[in-house]
Amino acid sequence: MEQWRAGKVIENRHWNERLCSLRVDVELPKFKAGQFTRIGLPDGETMLARAYSLVNSPGEPYAEFYFNKVPDGPLSSRLHQLKAGDTLYLSATVAGFLTLAELPECQHLWMLATGTALGPFLSILKTEEVWQRMDKVILVHGVRSLDELTYQELIQGLTKRYPEQFVTIAAITREQVSGCLQQRIPDAIRSGDLERAAGMVLDPALAHVMICGSPAMVEDSMTALKEKGLRKHRRREPGHISVEIYK
Ligand SMILES: Cc1cc2nc3c(=O)[nH]c(=O)nc-3n(C[C@H](O)[C@H](O)[C@H](O)COP(=O)(O)OP(=O)(O)OC[C@H]3O[C@@H](n4cnc5c(N)ncnc54)[C@H](O)[C@@H]3O)c2cc1C
Repeated sequence: MEQWRAGKVIENRHWNERLCSLRVDVELPKFKAGQFTRIGLPDGETMLARAYSLVNSPGEPYAEFYFNKVPDGPLSSRLHQLKAGDTLYLSATVAGFLTLAELPECQHLWMLATGTALGPFLSILKTEEVWQRMDKVILVHGVRSLDELTYQELIQGLTKRYPEQFVTIAAITREQVSGCLQQRIPDAIRSGDLERAAGMVLDPALAHVMICGSPAMVEDSMTALKEKGLRKHRRREPGHISVEIYK
C-alpha cells in the first residue's frame, strides 16, 4: 500500500487563471533533482492521487510543484484551490530517470519542455552539479502565450550567474514575441531554427537532450531528433535522448 506523508501548503502562487506553483512544508524522502512524486487528496475512503515533478532541488527546505488546472481534471482543479495552511499528502516514494545520474558522458545538455514540464528542469538547474558537469546548458521552454512563460526571475538569475554556459530559448506558438521562436519545439528542431537560436549545433558527439512534456510533444521531438542522428538513451545502450512524459 502506498505510504503518505502529510504536508501543509506554505503558498499557492497563481501565475494566471490556470498555472500554479504550490510550495509545501513536508518531510521529503531522499530524491534526485528531476524526479517526481505523487500528490494525493482524500476522496471519500480513497486517495485521489497523481504524479507531479519536484521543482525544488534536494537542498531546499520545502517541496514545490508546478501544475496547471486541467479542465474537469479531478485532482488539478482541487490543487488549484488550495490555500496556505491546507493539508495535502505526498507519497513517501520518489521516482524517475530524468536525472543527471542517468546521463552518459556529454558536454552540452539540451532541456526541452512544454508548459508545466519545465518543473524537473528547474530542479536540475538549481543544483551545482549541472554547472560543474556541463560546458553548455540550453533550456527550451515551449508555451502558447507570453503569460505562460513563468519562473523568469529564477531563469534570468541563472543567466546572469552562468552567462557563458546558459542559453535560454522561449518558443511561443500563439503570439509573436520579439526574441522568441514562434513554432512548436519539434518544428524548430526540424527547421534548424532551434540550433540557430541557441547558436549551437545539436551534435550527437557532444549533446544529450532531455525532453519533458505531453505524449505528442515528446514523440514529435524524438522523431525530429532522430532525423538528426540522435537516438534514445538506455542504460544498457547509451544514446542521446532521455524523456519524461506527462500523461
Ligand atoms: C511522471 C509524471 C509527472 C507529472 N508531473 C506533472 C507536473 O509536474 N505538473 C503537471 O501539471 N502535471 C504533471 N503530470 C500530470 C499530472 O499527473 C496530472 O495528470 C494532471 O495534473 C491532471 O490531473 P487531473 O486529475 O486534474 O486530471 P486527469 O484526469 O489526470 O487528466 C485529464 C487530462 O489532462 C491531461 N493532462 C495531464 N497533465 C497535463 C498537463 N500538465 N497539462 C495539460 N493537460 C494535462 C491528461 O492527459 C488527461 O487527458 C505528471 C504526470 C506524470 C505521469
